[in-house]
Amino acid sequence: MMESSLTEIVNGGAPGAEEIPPPLRDTEVQSAVRLPGSKGIAVRVRSTLPRDPVCPFCRKPRAPNGTRFVRFRDRPWLGTPITIEWKRQQYRCVGGCGRASNETHNGFDDRHFLTRRFVGWLMHEGTIRPFADLAKECGMHASLVRKLFSERARQEASNWHSDKIAICSVHLANQDRPAIFDIGERRFLDVYASWEKVADGLSMLMFYSSPPEFIVPKVTSIVVDVAAFSYPDLSADYFDKLFPYAELFVSGVSIAREASRLIIGACEPLLASCATLEKRSLSSALALFSRERRGLGEHAKDRLRRWEYLCPALYEVYDLKEQLITSIRDRSINLDIWNRWKAEAAAMPAVDLRPIISLVDTHWREFLDYQLRSELVFFEAWLEDKTSNLDALGAHSFASSRAAFLRRLGAK
Ligand SMILES: [Zn+2]
Repeated sequence: MMESSLTEIVNGGAPGAEEIPPPLRDTEVQSAVRLPGSKGIAVRVRSTLPRDPVCPFCRKPRAPNGTRFVRFRDRPWLGTPITIEWKRQQYRCVGGCGRASNETHNGFDDRHFLTRRFVGWLMHEGTIRPFADLAKECGMHASLVRKLFSERARQEASNWHSDKIAICSVHLANQDRPAIFDIGERRFLDVYASWEKVADGLSMLMFYSSPPEFIVPKVTSIVVDVAAFSYPDLSADYFDKLFPYAELFVSGVSIAREASRLIIGACEPLLASCATLEKRSLSSALALFSRERRGLGEHAKDRLRRWEYLCPALYEVYDLKEQLITSIRDRSINLDIWNRWKAEAAAMPAVDLRPIISLVDTHWREFLDYQLRSELVFFEAWLEDKTSNLDALGAHSFASSRAAFLRRLGAK
């Protein structure tokens, strides 16, 4: 019931585009009011679809039997909560069972009194932003928003057919973001804003999978980016509990990337003194050190040769870094090579390479198993190819980059 104290924004006819959200497809706006406080805008609509004269219970004719307003939560618009009051046609069966029925419309989800586009908004934003923010924006309780999101995620999970999945970092919107892939189908499933969001999503799956009945029994292999383990909730134990029937692998590319990052960090003092000797900037020395030898041009190679005389310790660590990364790349790494590497690293007094040793040792089993599975390595080559220049998507926000990424990789 609309009270006279409410501000009427639109009264019949065509809505002012700046005043109210774009109407749902196949509906027509009748009026709109601004609700008191921060309750947002209520929009009254009716369906423009043709009437369905068939009783849904007995397929005999039904006749109109009055209308009533039914409230649906719509997705927020410009930060304002939106309620849609659907003037819904009621029917009574006149040719058969005599039962009452309602008008149906695919823009509305009856079960929770939500519009379908609200659900789309929630599933999109829920992977990006905190539920508390979403709740505030759409005018619902945070606990309800979370519940709706997780229920829907559970439904999606029940349609999950993948038996081998990978959770790998991709560089999107200026950051490494965790993305989930179906290895067998070479299919991209989703990308999250942060590892924290992955933990949220997976925790919900686990919570609702007890006893496991959704994706859990189907998954036989799971590849995890080593970056996941720096997030406290995402330990190897956690993945084992979540996917008790799956073998856990740690991606080789992620080990190489993380080891390289740690080596660079350990070398910073050496890099700084070398840059001073060269009369070059630290950042240019860092940039050269970070690059892989196989990709260097003549000029860069010359500079590296000068390092060999100027700063032998730095050159040796560069060499060690390259040995490790190359042996991961060409999958030649084994326990002998690794033990030799560790001995050489330990003999290098100028830099502390223990964090790298600890990283590889901690994940050795899962990492080596990964290196031995050609299927996984082929998947990784495919992934690298597909995600090599995502920055070229040109989008600034995570949300728009994600949308472009989804389009490019043809997800869902
Ligand atoms: Zn009937």
